[in-house]
Amino acid sequence: MGKPIPRPTPTEKPFYDGCARHELQLQHCQHCAHVLFYPRTLCDHCSSENLIWQVASGLGTIASYTVVRRSVSSDYEAPYVIALIDLVEGPRMMSQIIDVDPDTLAVGLPVSVDFAAWSEDITLPVFRLQPAARVEGD
Ligand SMILES: [Zn+2]
Repeated sequence: MGKPIPRPTPTEKPFYDGCARHELQLQHCQHCAHVLFYPRTLCDHCSSENLIWQVASGLGTIASYTVVRRSVSSDYEAPYVIALIDLVEGPRMMSQIIDVDPDTLAVGLPVSVDFAAWSEDITLPVFRLQPAARVEGD
């Protein structure tokens, strides 16, 4: 079983193009100021079509996470961490936390975005613990 490769729709393309430039792009509703993720054609708060893309801060906190210790296939190197990230702009995003000792993770810790190649054509956002949140080992 190979990794699923996203095939961006026209609506999603600005998000993936942003990732390729190492920018986390989010849609902002010009009518109600709601910030959207995942990409949509209508605001999920007020149904306006008046959405613009803006670069997000890339900062957030861990809302929840799980440590995958036995991967579903050799395409995934276990252990790895899947997390729900509450972005400071508002949306909650599922992603991966990389370069972390899973035992140091906790809900509420601050993270910042980074980007990792998923395939030849697709780059995805991943997150790292913000340096201040890192617990140094002995
Ligand atoms: Zn709206």
